Amino acid sequence: MSQCRGVSSDSPQAESSVPRGPGGPAPIPAVHVVLIGPPGSGKGTQAVRLAERYGIPHISTGDILRSAVRAGSELGRQVADIMTKGLLVGDDLMTDLVRARLKEPDVSRGFVLDGYPRTVGQAETLDGMIGAERMIVLLIDVADSEIVRRMGTRRVCDSCRLTQSVADPFHPTSEPCPYCGGNLVRRPDDEPETVRRRLATYAQYALPVIEHYRKRPTFAVVDGAQHADNVMAGMTAHIDSVRAKT
Ligand code: ADP
Repeated sequence: MSQCRGVSSDSPQAESSVPRGPGGPAPIPAVHVVLIGPPGSGKGTQAVRLAERYGIPHISTGDILRSAVRAGSELGRQVADIMTKGLLVGDDLMTDLVRARLKEPDVSRGFVLDGYPRTVGQAETLDGMIGAERMIVLLIDVADSEIVRRMGTRRVCDSCRLTQSVADPFHPTSEPCPYCGGNLVRRPDDEPETVRRRLATYAQYALPVIEHYRKRPTFAVVDGAQHADNVMAGMTAHIDSVRAKT
């Protein structure tokens, strides 16, 4: 599969949201990255790397919702059941959550958005919030069979919260976290039945979202079956080439 295809025209990018001081250094344009990909495509891992590289926040709607569930907040109570079933939380609730997060001051330099938009309604709302021409959209493409394999071994440390793989998918608690010694546990929504439902939900909702973005010159597809370093290289090549044209 091709590494990364995309940028093919010179459509104008929006001005940076960093203020331009008179006679000051040229402003660095904000980077607005939207990552799309099936569960288990490595989106979260790559989002963290991109955020570090460009010095921008990683905004994961799944992480925000999971910490709300852990904290037992009103939001957490509303979404816990939906998440465990592998279904989608309603557009209105998600949009309120993302709108509030994008108003935080750390977003002035941009963001890596991971997990939103998941429906065409959310994509249209995001265009309204950010401006369609300002978003760099990357699809991490991975076959279902590879995802099922990966999810069988995915665990999260219940102490340091790092996501990692275990060698033996059938003995889920046999290995301690190699970083802090904590317990490696399966996310409730990584249970095989829920994974199947999440993949079905992704297939149902993601295609129209991808079509929403596909014709944009800032859209690219990266082969997520490659080594993680190559996935990262494909993504940064695309982001940098879009930015070079702005
Ligand atoms: P995945 O690992 O499947 O990519 P995430 O960690 O992004 O999943 O999200 C976990 C769950 O949180 C989803 O299965 C869904 O229930 C809910 N969720 C996260 N983002 C959204 C969203 N933008 N719209 C609706 N539901 C969402």
